[in-house]
Amino acid sequence: MPATCSACGASPAALRRPKTGHALCRACFLAAFEEETHQAIVAGRLFRPGETVAIGASGGKDSTVLAYLLQLLDQRHGYGLRLLLLSVDEGIAGYRDASLAAVRRHQRRSGLPLHVVSYRQLYGWSMDRIARHLGPRNNCTFCGVFRRQALDRGALLMGADKIATGHNADDVAETVLMNFLRGDVGRLRRGAGAGPAGEGAVPRCKPLRHAYEKEIVLYAYFQGLDYFSTECVYAPQAYRGYARALLKELEAARPSAVADLGHSRERLSLRSDLRMPARGTCQRCGYVASQPLNRICQVPMVDSGSELIESHGAQSVAEKKKHFSS
Ligand code: SF4
Ligand code: ZN
Repeated sequence: MPATCSACGASPAALRRPKTGHALCRACFLAAFEEETHQAIVAGRLFRPGETVAIGASGGKDSTVLAYLLQLLDQRHGYGLRLLLLSVDEGIAGYRDASLAAVRRHQRRSGLPLHVVSYRQLYGWSMDRIARHLGPRNNCTFCGVFRRQALDRGALLMGADKIATGHNADDVAETVLMNFLRGDVGRLRRGAGAGPAGEGAVPRCKPLRHAYEKEIVLYAYFQGLDYFSTECVYAPQAYRGYARALLKELEAARPSAVADLGHSRERLSLRSDLRMPARGTCQRCGYVASQPLNRICQVPMVDSGSELIESHGAQSVAEKKKHFSS
């Protein structure tokens, strides 16, 4: 590594940026990372002045960096946002309880309001109970749908206009790979772009979608941020793990592969001649679904008269929104 920073030419270089290969000192790296995130927010028109933004806070590196940065950039550039932390407790012993402790530490340091919604409270059961029922496979598929809905419901409860999530460029690239491998054109198009996308009642945005995972780790390290880094106990069985391994191999051969995959999805979203799969609503619970029953209502336990039928399926979406906003 060169002895001096290639940006300021004065301080010793502390790292070589994984995204660009530039040797930078700590201060120049932090400044570049913050400015790039600001530019992504401005270019994508992610926020409007006066909006209430619920930051999906898991306690992991991505959402911790996102929460820290949004507060910093909001103050620096005067976005005029009301920022909140919103966490989902899936009920995964030894994992989520520890990561929520990291969220609470961040809440105390930042002073941002925090709201936690749990699967147990919303649906009547936990991911651990679902995993005991389903076995080791497919837990993430169900958990992802549960979490999406839980974030919506938490955001509605908090009066949020928007949900900001900590998805980074690697997450986006992995999702592109997975959807290519599944031939899922609908998801490829729905998930493209920075702004509101996909299913759900509350618009979402991903301010870190151009940030490389390695740079988020470096940013958290140089800022001394406190986050939880242990993987979920159900993650090793997830299909995403294979896409992640493939992406790491591609990135080793060509570092721009991470960004290229994200851009390819954005370009794909510009194609207007692709036929999109029909989307409707679940016949049981009224939430968005591409099949007669959405993922949650397909869980075998739901048919067995569990609490989930009463708590999840008894109301229409309109009734739920009314209930949560009252
Ligand atoms: Fe849920 Fe899977 Fe994430 Fe664990 S790894 S929190 S089961 S989506
Ligand atoms: Zn420098």
